Amino acid sequence: MAAHRQSRPWSGGEVALPSPSPPAYDPSCYLCPGNARVSGKANPPYTGTFVFDNDHPCVGPDAPQVLAPPPAPYRVTPATGIARVVCYSPRHDITLAELPVEGVDELLATWQEQMRELAARRDVNHVLIFENKGEAVGVSNPHPHCQIYATNFAFKFIETEARVSARHQQETGRGLFQDILRAERHDGRRILSEQPTAIAFVPFFARYAYEVYVAPTSTHASIATLSDAERRDLATVLRDVVIRFDNLWKMPFPYVMALHQAPTDGSIHRGFHFHIEFHPPLRKPNLLKYLAGPEIGGGNFLSDTSPEAKAAELIAAAGPHYR
Ligand SMILES: [Zn+2]
Ligand SMILES: [Zn+2]
Repeated sequence: MAAHRQSRPWSGGEVALPSPSPPAYDPSCYLCPGNARVSGKANPPYTGTFVFDNDHPCVGPDAPQVLAPPPAPYRVTPATGIARVVCYSPRHDITLAELPVEGVDELLATWQEQMRELAARRDVNHVLIFENKGEAVGVSNPHPHCQIYATNFAFKFIETEARVSARHQQETGRGLFQDILRAERHDGRRILSEQPTAIAFVPFFARYAYEVYVAPTSTHASIATLSDAERRDLATVLRDVVIRFDNLWKMPFPYVMALHQAPTDGSIHRGFHFHIEFHPPLRKPNLLKYLAGPEIGGGNFLSDTSPEAKAAELIAAAGPHYR
């Protein structure tokens, strides 16, 4: 944390402010209902969430299965799996923050179905569900959607979280995330939103200025096992957070959102607590947090802001949505 130097004269990269609101339907959008995608397939006239296999998958049946062995110490193994896209709704212009709570709940139910189906596959050891939102994180198509990577390997953060959660459980007999929730409640300053079974907070250890965690309060390895009541609470808290993001500067707020779920590799991952992480790249309305010497060169995050101050801004940006 280096919040003391925030008034230094220059920091970060300028980002263009977002273009005006898109139309409700865009005839040139490959995600809108009825339109043709790059594969030539046409989208059905869908009315709720819509899931399809990614036409340009990073993992898929067309990737090479036989790899030339490299010289030591290098090793290679094929990355296999399934890549899908989930459209949040037929509306080209309605982001997660502008969906009614029923729409967010429907999306979470879709994630549950996907998770149950994909986790049951023997060739899938982990399911990463994520949304890249906004031009600041490289999104070219504004139609609100997320992606699913169901792979034969677990991503690095998941691997680390599974390892430290299991170690903490073994050393203390308690869940690491439960201890985090206890500490966050004890402090209280960084909690943004709460429902009987769900919570959102800026973590003590936030790397990005507006980093937010959203989670059920009970420990679940993934979203798949949430009850309908827990899912509804999670939808309510999730929606509350993304509305706060947009309200902060009265503009669509860019972020990377990722569901962190335990690997589905057949082992028991004790203490792993499903949660959703938001990593917003902006520090100010048009100022990007640059990853540079400390982050890229050294491997540690240097935060120019204090999590308490940023949480206070989000606490003050309560709904309804500014639009
Ligand atoms: Zn569209
Ligand atoms: Zn995580």
